[in-house]
Amino acid sequence: MTPSKRFVTTTGDIVLTTNARASGGQGDIFEAMLQDDRTIGMVKLFKNQFHSESTRSRIRYLVNLKLYESCSVICSPTHMIDSDGYLGHYTPYVPGHLLESILEQGDITLIQALQLSLAVARAIEALHGKQIAHGDLHPENIIVESSDNDVVKPHLIDLDNFSAPGQPLPDMVGQSLYLSPEQRTAIAQNKPALPDIYTDLFELGVLIHEMILLKHPATGADGDEQSFNHAMREGRWIHDPKNGGTLLDNFGGYPAAILGPELSCLFRRSMGLDKFSRPTGSEWIAHLQTALNSVHTCPDCNGPFVFDPTSYKCPYCHKDFPTLLLQTRAGKKVILNRAAVAVGRELLNGDLTVSARHAIFRRRGPLTYIESRGSNGTSIWDGNTWVLLPQHCLVVIKDGDRLRFGDFEVQLKECK
Ligand SMILES: [Zn+2]
Repeated sequence: MTPSKRFVTTTGDIVLTTNARASGGQGDIFEAMLQDDRTIGMVKLFKNQFHSESTRSRIRYLVNLKLYESCSVICSPTHMIDSDGYLGHYTPYVPGHLLESILEQGDITLIQALQLSLAVARAIEALHGKQIAHGDLHPENIIVESSDNDVVKPHLIDLDNFSAPGQPLPDMVGQSLYLSPEQRTAIAQNKPALPDIYTDLFELGVLIHEMILLKHPATGADGDEQSFNHAMREGRWIHDPKNGGTLLDNFGGYPAAILGPELSCLFRRSMGLDKFSRPTGSEWIAHLQTALNSVHTCPDCNGPFVFDPTSYKCPYCHKDFPTLLLQTRAGKKVILNRAAVAVGRELLNGDLTVSARHAIFRRRGPLTYIESRGSNGTSIWDGNTWVLLPQHCLVVIKDGDRLRFGDFEVQLKECK
């Protein structure tokens, strides 16, 4: 095959612009250009042994579906090549780097990992909404585009192994590192192990695990192939912080305790043997969205994590987060060491300007907030003047702050 080879298709002519760029099990990849508008893209030409009616039907189906119209993350073929003894397709070019190399270099922040996971979950939800499984979800099939302001966007490529109702079955089972427990069992028993929506959901869990924690779910139990297979077939999330998973923290990546309870719950279900209990794309979307809005950093080591309402300890350096206390002028102290502490006139021995329930202090990870509720309001000293806090809103407070409940002043100190 030489550059400048031209293919005539029903939707426009395509010209190859390079020799083969990559060669896979099913065919070769070339850079190409649409003759009409000079748009650049990639052509995949299938090897002769795949020139069958079933491959032809699958390509035609994929091109006609226009999946990129339902979700911009999906990068699917737009033209079918079926002429001069060639069978293949053309997909528009997407800029960026392979997720595989980004993960290898660990070149991704927690926020970016959550953004990427969210977008990939959206793409999977869009596919599954049409009863289509991707069939080969792994970091070499995701291209990550990043913009100047560090916003990342994934492109899901290579849908050649898809599975869909009424279509001939795909040729491959998928990538060994991402196979579901039921596929591994089927392979061990010499039975068919083809992908479906449930194996996609397993792969999605593995992929999100790699993106957020920078480690595969079998990390720490992958000394040899047998241990790896066992870890992947066991139906247990071995990094589960609730189940001794923290013992594997020193095998690389981030500690699973940074996930917070909700994402942890999804991984527990995702790695399970009951395929019907695996979290769907829409469940991942809901919880990843919440997690994106709940990223905190440790005041000691700067490690980022998703907020856990039950923990006041850093998942990286294990130091306790600072606990604040209120101290009145008369020396009375109220320690703010719980998720919510309500203070009022009685507790503070305060004057009549302090309401019975004047303010609620809320602890979220390393931060403590005040929510003012008293009828005479709460003010904070900004160094020059007293500033009235908005009622029923959470405002972050810190060691050294001075507060006034009505006319009654207190000071915040860190518990030592
Ligand atoms: Zn820390």
